[in-house]
Amino acid sequence: MSRYSKDWQQIALTIKDQAGWRCSKCRCQCLRPGDPTKHLTKSERTKITLTVHHHNRMPEDNRPENLIALCTSCHLSYHNRKQSNIPPGQLSFDF
Ligand SMILES: [Zn+2]
Ligand SMILES: [Zn+2]
Repeated sequence: MSRYSKDWQQIALTIKDQAGWRCSKCRCQCLRPGDPTKHLTKSERTKITLTVHHHNRMPEDNRPENLIALCTSCHLSYHNRKQSNIPPGQLSFDF
């Protein structure tokens, strides 16, 4: 987690905003901050939570061209498909 810079939350928010809170891969509409989630189950909520992926898998590299907004399931498939230095269990830090 220390590999993420301290303004990561702000950077990630900017990327998600620019993406219109849609996944860049499957284009699904994800939750925005403040969206009501009470009617959703935890797994439904997780599915439409937008995350930010590092193209080069370097969490230190926060250049906009290295960052891509992905929903949780697309994000997981990215990490499952290729060799990754970020274990899937740590993906929650990648939000
Ligand atoms: Zn997606
Ligand atoms: Zn990622």
